[in-house]
Amino acid sequence: MRIPCIAANWKMFKTVQEAIVYAKELRSLARDLDGLEVVLAPPFTALHAVADAVRNTNIGVAGQNLYWGTEGAYTGEVSGPMLREAGAEYVIIGHSERRALFGETDATVNKKIEAALESDLVPIMCIGESLEEREHGDTLAVLDRQLREGLDGMTTPAVNSLIVAYEPVWAIGTGRNATPAQAGQAHAHIRQRLCERFGEVVGTACRIIYGGSVKPENIAELAVQPDVDGALVGGASLNAGSFFEILTKSQRPTV
Ligand code: PEP
Repeated sequence: MRIPCIAANWKMFKTVQEAIVYAKELRSLARDLDGLEVVLAPPFTALHAVADAVRNTNIGVAGQNLYWGTEGAYTGEVSGPMLREAGAEYVIIGHSERRALFGETDATVNKKIEAALESDLVPIMCIGESLEEREHGDTLAVLDRQLREGLDGMTTPAVNSLIVAYEPVWAIGTGRNATPAQAGQAHAHIRQRLCERFGEVVGTACRIIYGGSVKPENIAELAVQPDVDGALVGGASLNAGSFFEILTKSQRPTV
C-alpha cells in the first residue's frame, strides 16, 4: 500500500524564526499522526533550522529547488549534497512557478531529477497543464510530454522513490481546485504511463500527489481518489493549524 505524502510548499514565505515556531507547533500537533509522510519545504535559509526542529519525528524536510552541479561557480544555486547536508530528504523539482518565472524546462527538470537521485533525495516532480492547454483538450498530451522528457534516460531502480505532483497550473494559488474527477483522471493517466515506462511494480509504487488550492475543506474528497496519494499544499500550508487539519483529513482508513 502506498503511504500518502503531504508536502507543504512554503514558497518564499517565513523567516528562520517564523519557520522554527511553525515546525515546533506542527511537531507537537502531529506527534500522534500515523500512516502519513509529512514534508515541509521551507525557503533555503530556514532549511537547516526546520530540519533541526523536526529531527526524530515523522516530519521530513524538502528543498524547493536544486541545481544539477555538485559545486562550482554557479552564483545563487544550491546543490543536492548541500541540501542533504542541511537536512533535506526530498526536493521539489519543476514547480510551475519555476517553469513560468525562471525558465525551467522539461530538459532542466530532467537534469535536476537525475541530480536529486544521485544525492539520495526523493524528487517531487511537478507536472501539470495550463488553463489554455486544458481548454484545448491537451491535458493528457502535456502530461505525457512532461513525463517523457522529464524522466528521459531514467532507469527503473533509480525512480523507485519518485513522487510525481500533478499540479494543474490553473489551480495553483487561484482558489480553484481540480474536481475530484479531474484529478482522478489525470492521476490514473500518470499511473498508467509510469507503469508502461517503468513496469507495474515501480509504476504502482510511485506516489502521485495532487497540488492546486488544496484546503481543509476540499482535501477529503480529493484524498479518496484511488490514485491520489497525498497533496502538495501551498497557501493552506502556511498556517500550522490549517496544514494539520489537511493532514488529519488525508489519512486513509486502516482496513
Ligand atoms: C503549490 O505551490 O504547489 C500549490 C499547489 O499552491 P496552492 O496550494 O496555494 O495552490
